[in-house]
Amino acid sequence: MAGSRSPTIGIDLGTTYSCVGVWRNNRVEIIANDQGNRTTSSCVGFKETERLVGDAAKNEASSNPTNTIFAVKRLIGRRFSDPCVQSDKKIWPFKVIEGNDDRPNIIVDYQGEEKHFAAEEISAMILTKMKEVAEAFLGCTVKDAVVTVPAYFNDAQRQATKDAGAIAGLNVMRIMDEPTAAAVAYGFDKKKNSSVKKNLLIFDLGGGTFDVSLLSISNGVIEVKATAGDTHLGGEDFDNHMVKFLVEEFRRKHRKDISSNPRALRRLKTSCEQAKRILSTTTQTTVSIDCLYEGTDFCSTITRARFEELNVDLFEKCIETVARCHKDAGIDKDNIDAVVLVGGSTRIPKVQQLLKNYFSGKELCKSIHPDEAVAYGAAVHAANLSGQGAEEINNLVLIDVTPLSLGTDVEGNITDVIIPRNMPIPTQKSKVYITTTDFQSAVDIKVYEGERVRCEDNNLLGRFTLSGIHPAPRGETEMNVTFKIDSDGILHVSAEEPVSGTKKQITLINREGRLSKQEIDKMVQEAARNRMEDELLKEKVLAKNSLEDCIESS
Ligand code: AMP
Repeated sequence: MAGSRSPTIGIDLGTTYSCVGVWRNNRVEIIANDQGNRTTSSCVGFKETERLVGDAAKNEASSNPTNTIFAVKRLIGRRFSDPCVQSDKKIWPFKVIEGNDDRPNIIVDYQGEEKHFAAEEISAMILTKMKEVAEAFLGCTVKDAVVTVPAYFNDAQRQATKDAGAIAGLNVMRIMDEPTAAAVAYGFDKKKNSSVKKNLLIFDLGGGTFDVSLLSISNGVIEVKATAGDTHLGGEDFDNHMVKFLVEEFRRKHRKDISSNPRALRRLKTSCEQAKRILSTTTQTTVSIDCLYEGTDFCSTITRARFEELNVDLFEKCIETVARCHKDAGIDKDNIDAVVLVGGSTRIPKVQQLLKNYFSGKELCKSIHPDEAVAYGAAVHAANLSGQGAEEINNLVLIDVTPLSLGTDVEGNITDVIIPRNMPIPTQKSKVYITTTDFQSAVDIKVYEGERVRCEDNNLLGRFTLSGIHPAPRGETEMNVTFKIDSDGILHVSAEEPVSGTKKQITLINREGRLSKQEIDKMVQEAARNRMEDELLKEKVLAKNSLEDCIESS
């Protein structure tokens, strides 16, 4: 039942586009932004006089390439030294440098000054925009939100997304996995057949991330059986392959290299993205840009076959991931009832064809709008959590799973798994470990995520030392180590040695790479200051416009 509280919104914070929905009048409304678009570019542009967020920033991207930030979702919660960050930054026209604690810092020129931003701050600007889009539609202040993330986001990425919400002045009630959200939208649509158990494969190929999930739905209970994905696969990669191909063509045709000119690259990329979209419905199109570089125009015809050839390795990788996912779940592909397409890149005919072939000609489910399904599901869950939805949606039960195995190091630098991947969450598991040296007084506990045996091949999430343990010959002192994942997918690790009673716990909140409370507070203030500046600017422009109107009409 709708209460007096302001509605809770569902936000799909996408790599390239974001989308916001709300439960109203007994259904989900996907909210259009000020430009009338139902998805908003996840883009922030900094200029001499103003800051642009969303579609306005994207529109100016080619004339302001080094100060237009996009795909920040690829940075959030990652370390600067992360190989993904290192490879991304090479292709981005904006600057990313190493900040404190191996955190990436985004550098822009804003109001004539060099400014440094954390990924959380840029994401917060996008979240603020989505919040404002919802507020304009609802006519009231919005405080609470459900925000979606890819299923394979690790603890740091989930935490950082929550922090971005806090900086945007939002209470993030739940971090929800994107495929689960899509399934909620789908399951809700199909609620008439709810007593029949169904296995769904959610194939989510967006702008920058790829996510496959196998879910089973029955009686309103949605269970994620397995997930697989790639943090670095999506429409942007297809665009980049086309850009690379055309940069070569430009070099051949005009003997000029545009690869170090951010503006030319940005313009070429925008045209490539458009061409790619057109190639989803036609078999050939033209990329044509006036004065692309040093006064030289560029015009090239590109066929669908060429586009497919440039990307076939990536498309095939998608199918391999699908195979891995259903094998992980122990479900044969013949037992999958529906394959649901989510994300803009699923409109690519070759992707659909390969997927259909893999499932022996099964029709793919496209009834849910691929760009809106995640926000739709998030809005349903938001209403569900705040008790604002209809009775039928309040009966939905969601079970998320751990995307990666979690464990600790044991002798020989081996990762001992405590919580295996694909375990439904929330969950808690404990294991007993013994000392490895005589009269050991402290033990170092490292927390890893990943599927590899050797610790160094997995991702170190955090570490802590349990000191003051009972001294005894090796192997005689026992310690209980407990891993607990809460319903937001956030990991809490504790260790206890019962004889001495010593105990220590970490939430991996203060682990390296994560923002501190003080830093978040500072960013909240900075965000408020930015908002005020934007408002003042808006007022100034309006005053100037009305003065001009006045002069003209007098
Ligand atoms: P999403 O992150 O789900 O919003 O997906 C955005 C990605 O989908 C971008 O890379 C778009 O270029 C891509 N996209 C959107 N429409 C199409 C289309 N008709 N054909 C191919 N790719 C598309």
